[in-house]
Amino acid sequence: MKSILKEAKVKKTSPFSPSSQKTRELLCELCRNFYDLGWASGTGGGISIKDGDHIYMAPSGVQKERLNPEDIFVLDLDGNIVEEPGRGLKLSQCAPLFMHAYKIRNAGAVLHSHSVNAATATMLFDKSFRIKNMEMQKGVEGYGAFDTLEVPIIENTAYECELADSLDETIKNNPKSHAVLVRRHGVYVWGKDWKQAKTHAECYDYLFEAAGRMKQLGISLEK
Ligand SMILES: [Zn+2]
Repeated sequence: MKSILKEAKVKKTSPFSPSSQKTRELLCELCRNFYDLGWASGTGGGISIKDGDHIYMAPSGVQKERLNPEDIFVLDLDGNIVEEPGRGLKLSQCAPLFMHAYKIRNAGAVLHSHSVNAATATMLFDKSFRIKNMEMQKGVEGYGAFDTLEVPIIENTAYECELADSLDETIKNNPKSHAVLVRRHGVYVWGKDWKQAKTHAECYDYLFEAAGRMKQLGISLEK
């Protein structure tokens, strides 16, 4: 006998357009990648991607590795919410900070990592992180292997949203940088699209880790 249940099974369709569904799925996948790297543990960190006239953003204070496509917020290019998931989910605290990189740098994706490498790198320097002569610098647009790469550091605040003004000023004052470190907290990184933002974030994180190890080994970062 044919299974009635099998015949009655209705194919589940997405309530989103194919392009929106694809971006939402990509964002969830990147959140899982970044969680595995230790950049988004304890619900920390955040990520957003621009697609046409919309910015897709992971919600605040949730398990980033367990996000579903329907959990994502969609904003317009001025930062106004155009689609929200409901169910008590809140827009990321990083939203106004992400918007600065979109507006000032015309970024295509912005992410915020709570990486231990980024947090500890801010304790090695005063106003800006500096490293030189590292091959992985080539992964950051505008830098060669024998340059000195700098990333400005801003002071942390009690609430993420309070970082907005200093982040805005620092992005404007450091046109060559694709990242801003936050003292004892993490880093904001962006790129012209999600692939470049991901590449930048991986290269910066490698350089933050390398600087920490060099310091441990007593190797000068000025060499
Ligand atoms: Zn944070």
